[in-house]
Formats: sequence, C-alpha cells, structure tokens
Amino acid sequence: MKTRIIFATGNKNKLREIKEILGEEKYEILTMKEAGIDIDIVEDGKTFEENSLIKSRSIAEHAKDAIVLADDSGLEIDALNKEPGIYSARYMGEDTSYDIKNANLIERLEGVEKQDRSARFVCAVSAVFPDGKEAVVRGTIEGYIGWEPMGTNGFGYDPIFYLWDKDVSTASISPEEKNAISHRGQALRMIKEEIIKHENISC
Ligand code: IMP
Repeated sequence: MKTRIIFATGNKNKLREIKEILGEEKYEILTMKEAGIDIDIVEDGKTFEENSLIKSRSIAEHAKDAIVLADDSGLEIDALNKEPGIYSARYMGEDTSYDIKNANLIERLEGVEKQDRSARFVCAVSAVFPDGKEAVVRGTIEGYIGWEPMGTNGFGYDPIFYLWDKDVSTASISPEEKNAISHRGQALRMIKEEIIKHENISC
C-alpha cells in the first residue's frame, strides 16, 4: 500500500516538483484540497522553520494516517538586514506585482557594490508523521541581487536573483536546472531522506 502524503500547497509547480523528487510509486501525494482539508492558517512564526511547522502541525490535526509536509520560503538580502525574509510573499503587499517589488529592491540597493549585494533563497520543509514525530530541514541557494531584472522563467524574485558562478538570474535558467540547485529542490531531497529514515525506524 502506498504511503499517503499531504503537501500544504495549492501551487501546481511545487506539487509537480515534490512528486518528481519523492516518486509516485511508493507515495500517494495529495494537496490539502485533494485531501478535503480546508483550514485557514495564521503564519505568525519568526523563522522559515517555525512557519513551516505551524502549517504542517495545523494540517496534521486533520489528517489521519498521512505524513503532512509543508514548506516556507523566501529571499534574504544581506545589505537589507535579510529583508524581505519570511515576509517575502507579503513584501509591499501580497497583491503588489513582482515587477514593482523587484524594482523597489534594486532601488534600495543603489550604490551597493557587487560583493555586498549577496542574497539567498531559503526553503524550510517540515514533516509531521502520523505517530506525532516531526522533522524540519532547510535548503539554501546563494547569489546576489543584480542591477536589472533578467529572464522570464521562474516566478517571484527570480529575475533579480543572480548566480555567482553564471552571472545570470534564476529566471534565465531552465526549470530543470533550477530544481537541481534550488533551495526548494535541496530541502525536498533532504526531507525525502527524513521520510525514509522514519519509515526504516518504524518498521
Ligand atoms: P511561499 O513559501 O510559497 O509562501 O513563498 C514565499 C515567497 O518567497 C514567494 O512568494 C516568493 O516571493 C519568494 N520565493 C520563494 N522561493 C522563490 C523562488 O524560487 N524564486 C523566486 N521567489 C521565491
């Protein structure tokens, strides 16, 4: 029998990525909606890990016999005191376009030299198992904020997040290339290890 996993997302790209990484032979992977769970969650944690756990714990209360996974991610810019950080989605307002958010961040870095424009995408993924045990992991990808947006792939802050070794943004590389190196790809591969470890201990 397949192990049931509920992933706290409505985002189709994230769901596809987790299915690719975990594999659908062993796991039945459902969104909250597909699992019939419809709850509002207040993400009032102070770290990516806390917010991720708030989501997975809340859903686990409604999910019998399933492993619940949740992620929380964002962009940290060192010269801006790690802003927008856990507020990445809410920065300048949830409904503000990323063209405007990205232009604003570039403007705030006016006069800042390349070496001081360091930034990273962070992704925390947590798991709550049916026996109540928990795991939380963090993936990161280092880069810098460019002087102008570049590329049309990806989403959110991708057009202004440049890779040190390539000097192109993560909106300029293919989704496959990005998944292989991204904060989310790393964190999902790490949580897969935790799931396998938990299964080996429990059987
Ligand atoms: P959430 O974890 O899906 O709520 O994402 C938080 C926010 O972080 C997103 O809305 C984006 O603004 C930003 N973000 C997280 N990961 C990425 C990424 O891979 N590329 C661009 N922006 C990202």
